[in-house]
Amino acid sequence: MPAMVGLRGYVPGMAGDQELHGPGPERERLPCPDTLETCDQCGVLITDGTERHGSVPDSSAIHPTQPAWDGRRMVVACSLDHLRRLHAQARPFIDAELWAGKLLRALKEARRADQIEVSVAELLDAAGLTPQQMLTAVRWLERYDHDGS
Ligand SMILES: [Zn+2]
Repeated sequence: MPAMVGLRGYVPGMAGDQELHGPGPERERLPCPDTLETCDQCGVLITDGTERHGSVPDSSAIHPTQPAWDGRRMVVACSLDHLRRLHAQARPFIDAELWAGKLLRALKEARRADQIEVSVAELLDAAGLTPQQMLTAVRWLERYDHDGS
């Protein structure tokens, strides 16, 4: 990579024994911070762009702004095998937990918008829940005493 030639010998932490042996293969392919990924299964650092991206079901995963992405957790794996393992090890999906997360996000949004009062109808609309789902979510929150702080 010609763009990196000028950096040789000036990268902090890279000087040392390698300096004596000349630039090795690692020196030629210095990882770019933007492409560094860690396998969620084995923790290996992936620096060559061969990582596999996927998502696993996760009822605790609530996207800050995109309800369509709720219930899915993005994962990175070093191989297809580790991506499959992450799928196989996914925690049990609990609908009530997902609905509780949607409800808490809607309440947080109302607070951020300085709304002093929120009607149940507004909350249902903002959370995208049915009345039964909201009731189940509230019961789940009460049972597990999540204070959100
Ligand atoms: Zn891995």
